[in-house]
Amino acid sequence: MVLLAEDDPAIAQPLSRALEREGYEVVAVTDGPSALEVTANQRVDLLVLDLGLPEMDGLEVCRRLRASGAQTSVLMLTARTDEVDFVVGLDAGADDYVAKPFRLAELLARIRACCAGRARGRWTPVACGWTSAPASSPSTARRCSWRTRSSSSCGC
Ligand code: CA
Repeated sequence: MVLLAEDDPAIAQPLSRALEREGYEVVAVTDGPSALEVTANQRVDLLVLDLGLPEMDGLEVCRRLRASGAQTSVLMLTARTDEVDFVVGLDAGADDYVAKPFRLAELLARIRACCAGRARGRWTPVACGWTSAPASSPSTARRCSWRTRSSSSCGC
């Protein structure tokens, strides 16, 4: 099941419809605490997590999710494209990161990659990418996370 946590209906509604068309079961929530509640009570394969959520922002949701030991893949959505925010998102435990505005086709491709990696059993949390990449170099973290996903070893 894909959990979509996004408070902007102009993004959530078309994205939710597109995911359902692709055959995913989708649950949508509009605030941080609801996202955590669903991940605690249901099997969530992928959490598409908006960074700017009411009540509890996406970073805090992601940190708490990781602190609970959950292995759910997290794809973070953000309007903020600063390098600092990118790195903070990965440090919080996000697996991948898409900046708004995004093309729906690109986001769906990322989601497919996340889900396919898990289904093949080759998914490994990209811990190396989160921690070893220099803070000043988010593009390194990004490349590393993709390389880790597509092969069993990571070169970093
Ligand atoms: Ca938002």
